[in-house]
Amino acid sequence: MIPYGRQDLSQQDIDAVVETLKSDWLTTGPMVPKFEVAVAKFVGAGHAVAMNSATSALHAACSALGLGPGDWLWTVPNTFVASANCAIYCGAKVDFVDIDAKTLNMSVDALEERLKKAEVEGRLPKIIVPVHFAGRPCDMPAIKRLADRFGIKLIEDASHAIGARIGDEPVGSCRYSDVTVFSFHPVKIITTAEGGMALTNDAGLAKAMARFRSHGITRDRAEMHISDEGTWYYEQLSLGYNYRITDIQCALGLSQLNRLENFIRRREQIAARYQDALKGLPLILPEESKIFRSSWHLYAIQIDPDQTSLSRRSLFDGLRERGIGVNVHYIPVHLQPFYRALGFSVGQYPNAEQYYQRAISIPMYAGLTDSEVQQVIELVRSELTR
Ligand SMILES: *Cc1c(COP(=O)(O)O)cnc(C)c1O
Repeated sequence: MIPYGRQDLSQQDIDAVVETLKSDWLTTGPMVPKFEVAVAKFVGAGHAVAMNSATSALHAACSALGLGPGDWLWTVPNTFVASANCAIYCGAKVDFVDIDAKTLNMSVDALEERLKKAEVEGRLPKIIVPVHFAGRPCDMPAIKRLADRFGIKLIEDASHAIGARIGDEPVGSCRYSDVTVFSFHPVKIITTAEGGMALTNDAGLAKAMARFRSHGITRDRAEMHISDEGTWYYEQLSLGYNYRITDIQCALGLSQLNRLENFIRRREQIAARYQDALKGLPLILPEESKIFRSSWHLYAIQIDPDQTSLSRRSLFDGLRERGIGVNVHYIPVHLQPFYRALGFSVGQYPNAEQYYQRAISIPMYAGLTDSEVQQVIELVRSELTR
């Protein structure tokens, strides 16, 4: 089976992990800040806080931005459930903004309309979480203008998008947001097995997220209530969690970061090959643009119901039977039973729902060989022209 995504580990990556295993530190040693500094430098952000997942980083970011009961967080339905769950963790409420049918990212027009309405109703969100779907950056300049106009904080869920750029601006620089979150799960662009990171240019937010990562504890004298205890002394100032990442994971992440640019170049090649070979089939292909650079985390095709009577289900099953590990991203979050129980229902976000009905993610990862790409292309073609 050719999977839809997978990690790419080199001997150097493995050596980096083994070296850390032989060192004095397995967790919270020198590799954590090394990895943080390297990623912050790579994207041009002031501060980085590495955690055990992007989900933890989203939770930490929401908490640091003061999200709590009575507040709203808005995100898109076309995402992984974690982009919404972070609000619920904080006791806040979630609402969604539909996607644009072309970009598959948060619709700026829908957002503006919803914000105007929410302002009148006195229900403006505290935080908006745009998601760079499949590695294609959202229109962050426009989203930031709206957020500033209505006084709202922004967290970019860039789980798919390390290495992507908006113009010359790397995703993660936080030029257009308060916090940006990356995921290092094995199917994402670079991996630490499990892992994530929050980037910010705000020193106060960075400090709050770092404390949240480890039980709300500080070892900084300047922050303590009692400052003349011995050197064993620490204080818990707020409620935090154990969201720490290990040195072993950060050693892997640091080594993977060296390979990021090559990973994305390979993904770009594969995407270009797909774009070229699949046009002319009854499919809607990802929209490209010169304004941004996608990191091509996913390559999601849509079956075009105007051009074929073949269903998404039969294309999906046909490809799976032929050894292509296709997947579907995403089941709209508001249609999950958990969210339906909160009052959401079918028909509320038509673009995300229609996209979901048509979408199939075909294999896309740096280690995919040319002959595997060709195999995918031929099988998609033969399924669609049977
Ligand atoms: C993978 C993913 C997450 C969660 O990442 P973890 O590191 O697995 O917690 C959140 N949001 C999106 C859009 C993702 O794809």
